[in-house]
Amino acid sequence: MYIKTEAVVLREVEINDADKLLDLLSKDRGLMTVKARGVRRGSSPLKSACQLLTLSEFTLQDYRGKLTVQEAQSIEQFRPLRDNIELLALGSYFAQAAGAVAQADAPNPELMSLLCNALFALGKLGRGQALVKAAFELRLACLAGFTPDLTACAVCGSPEADRFDLSQGTLSCSGCQTGESGIRMPLSPGMLLAMRYIVWCEPKRLFSFRLDENSLRELSSLTEAYLMTQLEHSFYTLDFYKTLLHYGDTI
Ligand SMILES: [Zn+2]
Repeated sequence: MYIKTEAVVLREVEINDADKLLDLLSKDRGLMTVKARGVRRGSSPLKSACQLLTLSEFTLQDYRGKLTVQEAQSIEQFRPLRDNIELLALGSYFAQAAGAVAQADAPNPELMSLLCNALFALGKLGRGQALVKAAFELRLACLAGFTPDLTACAVCGSPEADRFDLSQGTLSCSGCQTGESGIRMPLSPGMLLAMRYIVWCEPKRLFSFRLDENSLRELSSLTEAYLMTQLEHSFYTLDFYKTLLHYGDTI
């Protein structure tokens, strides 16, 4: 049986002499693992379409539940990411995080669209890394079922709250006692506006907000901590991305 599907390569593992196992995020089938035979040979016609972080049209052979790539045509290679190690590392983190939320046999077009739009915003649109990272993480948390309540302080109802509770996903004021012992992170008015925008905007407008650099860095730390808390997961690709940033700071 043959299957045609549009999918992004989330992860690649080398096996045997010339093969790879690929984790794909498919538009209509969710997460799948497929084998690409001979793809590491220079002459393989599958080579460019089976690269990490490539959106491709795949024709797969399904033999007793084992999937093998028969044909693959790349649709979008997100080329600017391949010329910049920081962007490639951040894109790899996005792919790993999307893979942690995706499920096999569960189509999730919103998730695939979020990942592709984030890679596109990082690369061709040239949006800042902290902005794209923060928007991706918070929106991914929403898609995973952890949409925060950003309307007002959960205690007094003030819309101008200045703390965000990482485990509850709620707002509060510094002076309001929430009765919970979770970690509350400080939130500036600009950060709160940006978070509301990210959670409530149209998907295609997700990366079209502005915030000053310092606030963006703080927002990116907050959205990262929120995503890790809710998913109860850490990501080695994120650790690698951070080592690159620290290395960049010292040269
Ligand atoms: Zn309050």
